[in-house]
Amino acid sequence: MNRVIEVDVEARVAWVEPGVLNLDLSRMVTHLGLHYAPDPSSQQACTIGGNVATNAGGPHCLAAGVTSSHILALDIVLADGSVARLGGLEPDVPGLDLRGCFVGSEGTMGIATRIAVRLQPNPPCVRTLLLDFMSIDAAAATVSAIIAAGIVPSALEMMDARITRAVEDYVRAGYPRDAEAVLLAELDGLPAGVEAAVAVVDRVGREHGARTVRVAADAAERALLWKGRKSAFGAIARIAPDYYLHDAVVPRTRLVEVLHQVYEIAAAHELIVVNVFHAGDGNLHPILVFDARDPGIWDRVHAAGDAIVRACVAAGGVLSGEHGIGLEKRDLMPLVFNVDDLDAQARLRDAFDPDGRANPQKVLPRGSRCGETMRVPEGAWV
Ligand SMILES: Cc1cc2nc3c(=O)[nH]c(=O)nc-3n(C[C@H](O)[C@H](O)[C@H](O)COP(=O)(O)OP(=O)(O)OC[C@H]3O[C@@H](n4cnc5c(N)ncnc54)[C@H](O)[C@@H]3O)c2cc1C
Repeated sequence: MNRVIEVDVEARVAWVEPGVLNLDLSRMVTHLGLHYAPDPSSQQACTIGGNVATNAGGPHCLAAGVTSSHILALDIVLADGSVARLGGLEPDVPGLDLRGCFVGSEGTMGIATRIAVRLQPNPPCVRTLLLDFMSIDAAAATVSAIIAAGIVPSALEMMDARITRAVEDYVRAGYPRDAEAVLLAELDGLPAGVEAAVAVVDRVGREHGARTVRVAADAAERALLWKGRKSAFGAIARIAPDYYLHDAVVPRTRLVEVLHQVYEIAAAHELIVVNVFHAGDGNLHPILVFDARDPGIWDRVHAAGDAIVRACVAAGGVLSGEHGIGLEKRDLMPLVFNVDDLDAQARLRDAFDPDGRANPQKVLPRGSRCGETMRVPEGAWV
């Protein structure tokens, strides 16, 4: 199921099958002056169906919004074999927003078989900036300061020293190998507005300690800067053979302190951590890097990961920004939801799939339903 079924250029809507690869969709409509905005870093490999199920984000979701903002309608098959349409192409679809419930439900409410996505016009002007810093705190503080200055870049990504060097060794993207952190900021829109926003980002960056602020001179340089960012996960192999990627969100204003905690937690477990993430959204991706052949390493990796997620939640964050809950974080759900919240979610899920056949055991911990017994993690809301 990997066909783009129909593109309505005037309405800027495409109907697609769920197996269409994210990047292929934008490639297919670029000649029409359009693109599909959510761009997970995995976009060469992930599907629109998977994006719907996880409510995927991506570097360009900071201004454009995550997947849910780009899905208009869905045809779904429920666990009992019946079919339904959720949402619609009308401007304000009447009734409850079941489309919104389905997006991000991780396959627990049925299978999407046809998806109507919103397409965006390609911006007339795009500028990509690389800001480099000699302190990670300065880079993290700049993220909040740019947005506080009234600029919401289309993308605002951050990479720490170790991953910046690994990427540079891997793809020669033109990143400074001696920086403690880099920010990749993108601004788009009408030329006059973009140039004014570039000036603000330049000023705020320098005020917060940016050593250099480089604006990509042309499309080739822009593409190379983005190639570096989007190759970051592949570059990790230059540090160690294995990695465990975490996904959690913190309020942007808490980035500096939470990043400190992430490095401290990794050090306490004698692990290397690298950070490459959607900084504008406060969506951290601490990546624990290791060699799985080391005896006892998985215990340390899991303990550090658990502590990192808890630190994010304690800072007012949430369990996942975009990768979802799945099985991995299911038993941590009581850290952010109380028993009534979990019961309400379980009852909503039951309305779609009363026998629990669709992706059973994912997302909601055993005991979510009122009257069931739950294994409660330390620090849970009860
Ligand atoms: C290197 C790397 C970088 C990444 N970067 C990002 C990023 O920037 N942003 C981001 O959001 N994620 C990112 N991810 C995570 C992942 O790629 C996304 O969550 C993506 O949306 C998953 O899509 P998929 O096609 O791989 O889905 P799968 O992994 O195949 O499935 C994910 C879930 O969706 C369900 N599902 C799949 N298709 C359907 C359907 N048609 N109907 C109902 N349920 C369905 C599956 O059952 C499963 O529970 C990254 C992953 C990697 C490995």
